Amino acid sequence: MQMAVNQIMKKYFGFTEFKPGQQEVVDSILSKRDTVAILPTGGGKSLCYQLPALMLPGVTLVISPLIALMKDQVESLDMQGISASYINSSLTAAQVRERLFQASREKYRLLYVAPERLQSEQFDNMMRELPLSFVAIDEAHCVSQWGHDFRPSFLGIGSWVSSLQQRPLLAAFTATATIRVREDIINGLGLQRPQVYINSFDRPNLLFSVEKTGDRSRFIKQYLQTHPGQAGIIYAATRKEVDSLHQELSAQGLSVSKYHAGLSNIDRNTAQEDFIYDRVQAIVATNAFGLGIDKSNARFVIHHNMPRHLEAYYQEAGRAGRDGEPADCILLYQPADIQVQKYLIEQSVLSPVRQEMEYAKLQCMIDYCHTSTCLRAYILDYFGETPITDNCATCSNCVEYELRDMTVEAQKVLSCVYRMRQQYGISLVAAVLGGSRQKRVLQLGFDRLSTYGIMSNWKSQQIVEFINLLVAEGYLSSSAGKYPVVMLTPAATPILRGKEKLMIRITPAPTTDTDNDVFEALRTLRYTIAQQEQVPPYVIFADNTLREMASYLPRDQEALLQITGVGEIKLKKYGQQFIEVIRQYITDDD
Ligand code: ADP
Repeated sequence: MQMAVNQIMKKYFGFTEFKPGQQEVVDSILSKRDTVAILPTGGGKSLCYQLPALMLPGVTLVISPLIALMKDQVESLDMQGISASYINSSLTAAQVRERLFQASREKYRLLYVAPERLQSEQFDNMMRELPLSFVAIDEAHCVSQWGHDFRPSFLGIGSWVSSLQQRPLLAAFTATATIRVREDIINGLGLQRPQVYINSFDRPNLLFSVEKTGDRSRFIKQYLQTHPGQAGIIYAATRKEVDSLHQELSAQGLSVSKYHAGLSNIDRNTAQEDFIYDRVQAIVATNAFGLGIDKSNARFVIHHNMPRHLEAYYQEAGRAGRDGEPADCILLYQPADIQVQKYLIEQSVLSPVRQEMEYAKLQCMIDYCHTSTCLRAYILDYFGETPITDNCATCSNCVEYELRDMTVEAQKVLSCVYRMRQQYGISLVAAVLGGSRQKRVLQLGFDRLSTYGIMSNWKSQQIVEFINLLVAEGYLSSSAGKYPVVMLTPAATPILRGKEKLMIRITPAPTTDTDNDVFEALRTLRYTIAQQEQVPPYVIFADNTLREMASYLPRDQEALLQITGVGEIKLKKYGQQFIEVIRQYITDDD
């Protein structure tokens, strides 16, 4: 049996090894046990039901709430030589009829549907005729009212399944791990004595960092410029911020699209496709973007603002590096984000108890931005997992850093705030320190203060950044409201008195990752093929597959088949073209 599983995995999916946890889940399903699989985003849930679907008799029904994902998955399966289809509201009635007809002739091994479809009589009748052996439920946490994505239609799945003459095997998949949600999945979907698998939430290939930068758009611009050829997502908090950041980046000649709920369907689709098909480098989006986006080669996710809680952050950041290759998850933190999130909680219609919970979650998010301990360990701990180490060596708190003594600079700022009677905002404090001649400074007589102009050798933006940092580190506090005022905190006193030093961690600038020529040539070929076939490039081959090709340089079909992600079907379809590109790069003395 195991040999057959491995052979099929290699033949259709091109993988020789399971990702952690996959094998247990596949084995459980193949041994005909109802199964719950809790794997993190990018953990490879799809394979866990697609592989058994090829080995079990009859049709596998995949119930998913994500319409965008269905098309993507079906396209990928098609490329791998597996017949699959989907039925959802994006199709015309005639298309639905045609697909139902094909399904009734057992043309598909996998059929994807949204849960609402089970209520359709036409669909229900057809399913009752089919040998349905296995039902996989993706995003199964949608059945739980305690989760963040509750969908009432999921509650109908269990009764529909039990109304079938022969009960199919059930497997539920999710990335949400809380005990409450897990219980709801088992009960709400009517699973029978299921085996439950929970895999670690650690994603070692994700490189977490928090940047306390004053000028976020400049940071993003530089990041995009120093990471050419790498695609990713930039999340901003509001539609307005998405619009202005998008405009600013486009004006700098950067290739970006934008996505938020205020745009038309057409505009959103175009933006999404441009991103998926690698036609733009990045997509600037609100959190409306991403659910069901399966682009495996997103190399970075940058958060322009701090999200409300770590659940949201980890879900969004987790869209980077689904292919297992290194990817950056950067959170650009500014203290003002806290005020925005507090305001949103205040304005929400949540009950007082839920509001308290939200404040507590927000505090954990704020602490993530401030902690000087390992960010990865912090996240895992938050999700109830005991981290193996408290030094991951890759997050921004663990990579090598230089400690710089900034006590004198901090004293300058703190005493300036004091002398301005702790009644003004960051920009005016910065203006005074920088020796600005602006009207307000002169009107208020701040040019007569002893701290006036004592940081005139700094750029004004640098002063603003440094004051922000003092707020972030807790030496200054920033009041709530539209015009926040900075004030000294008790932590400022020992610094001002010279009793404590302020050591700031300066991390080395991120290295630019330029891929080698072969990789670029393979990427170009992949792009050309993807355009011809009208599928996203990563559906042809994932980034890590191309990278493996670039480092092993397989010269013939046999060698190419050894590469992860190259199965027999894709080898036949595209192998020769990739081999030719590789051969062009192998010189005589190789
Ligand atoms: P999830 O749905 O859990 O977020 P996916 O099913 O989208 O994750 O898989 C994430 C990525 O991992 C995809 O690019 C997929 O092709 C890849 N993948 C899945 N299983 C394996 C495996 N055994 N070996 C290598 N890559 C895999």
